[in-house]
Amino acid sequence: MSDYAKRVLDGLKQRNAHEPEFIQAATEILNTLQPVIDKHPEYEKAGLLERYVEPERVVMFRVPWVDDQGQVQVNRGYRVQYNSAIGPYKGGLRLHPSVNLSIIKFLGFEQILKNSLTGLPIGGGKGGSDFDPKGKSDNEVMRFCQSFMTELYRHIGADVDVPAGDIGVGGREIGYLYGQYKRITGLYEGVLTGKGLTYGGSLARKQATGYGLCYFVDAMLKANGKSFQGKTVVVSGSGNVAIYANEKATELGAKVVAMSDSNGYIYDPAGINLAVVKQLKEVERKRIKEYVKCVPTATYTEGCKGIWTVKCDIALPCATQNEIDEESAKALVANGVMAVGEGANMPSTLEATKVFQEAGVLFAPAKAANAGGVATSALEMSQNSQRLSWTFEEVDAKLKGIMENIFAKVDEAAKEYATAGDYVSGANIAGFLKVAEAMMAQGAV
Ligand code: NDP
Repeated sequence: MSDYAKRVLDGLKQRNAHEPEFIQAATEILNTLQPVIDKHPEYEKAGLLERYVEPERVVMFRVPWVDDQGQVQVNRGYRVQYNSAIGPYKGGLRLHPSVNLSIIKFLGFEQILKNSLTGLPIGGGKGGSDFDPKGKSDNEVMRFCQSFMTELYRHIGADVDVPAGDIGVGGREIGYLYGQYKRITGLYEGVLTGKGLTYGGSLARKQATGYGLCYFVDAMLKANGKSFQGKTVVVSGSGNVAIYANEKATELGAKVVAMSDSNGYIYDPAGINLAVVKQLKEVERKRIKEYVKCVPTATYTEGCKGIWTVKCDIALPCATQNEIDEESAKALVANGVMAVGEGANMPSTLEATKVFQEAGVLFAPAKAANAGGVATSALEMSQNSQRLSWTFEEVDAKLKGIMENIFAKVDEAAKEYATAGDYVSGANIAGFLKVAEAMMAQGAV
């Protein structure tokens, strides 16, 4: 690491000592930027890294709502508007009890480079709340979302900041949030993405992150003389990203044998029946263990970490941050994994990533591999501005093109600045260069 980057990282660690996920994300990124810093000594004079690691704005707010028993509940809401050098802030909203400022900052920080990699004019942001949608009625979720938006609306806008979904935020939540935004502002504008198809949503947005992940991994495999065809795949999670990663991997000729939720994992050597998973998760909102009642060839194991002991050729972690630690990475390598594609944000710890890289596993880092969701969100924004709706095939074809283009950029940056095949450095550098250039051009703001 360059002296300059090290100094910035040390300062960041001191000032944010209680934010481990944010420090982890910043360490990974700053570790890889040395070749860029060496080439651009002017960055130091311009305080570029000091500005880059500090969010432009953090909003934290109270979210009071009334539960079905008439009791007032209070959650904490967040929106981190990290960097708007290349466009309006864009990034999802996460509803999960683990949400805190460190998690939202790490996600927002990653989002800057991810959005830059898409090639589209979108800056980085992220938000959410420690509200847990699990076990809540539709009415409770609606009242929470309305209260959340009653504060958030004043900070966002179609040309200011455009939130989307993330963990715990799907079509239902986006609908309630959008309804409240429209009611308060009187504006019918593309202020949120992931909307329903009847009110401005884009076809293929639901599928985009999972499909995009497989398009990226497919490009990476092909560049290395391999493919999905005939491969055994493990996908963690069983939410939006996991379901559509499974669907596309299967379409590309692979067999997905395991999926999970936060309680445990299912293993089905015949290949997971995705229709059953969709019914359980998307329609009935049930736990993944119910799968074995419908598919007797499958087994269920309590505890989600064990999924990484299932033998596979390709692992697609699509649940949450730090779900693959060093031990799990070693288990995957010992079982012969040849590629890992990160669907979730930062699912591998720094130590796990090192294990994969040292073992020569093809490793597709999240900020490049899961950029298909935000890229398609930006396509939704374009359709909203033009008052147009593109067909599923049009959006899917654009998504595929964007993911192949991201892989090409990442691959090229790895070869030019780091080591061929080091897609972690490639993604960080390719994403950073564009943001840095825009920040330099706009002066010390
Ligand atoms: P969903 O809420 O639809 O699904 C999340 C899945 O991960 C669920 O199966 C959930 O299980 C599981 N999960 C959540 N937390 C944990 C945990 N602590 N341990 C184990 N499993 C857990 O979210 P998404 O599919 O949208 O998001 C998944 C990941 O992908 C996240 O990291 C997100 O940031 C990332 N991502 C999402 C994008 C999108 O477009 N949606 C875009 C880019 C990245 P359970 O039901 O038990 O909670």
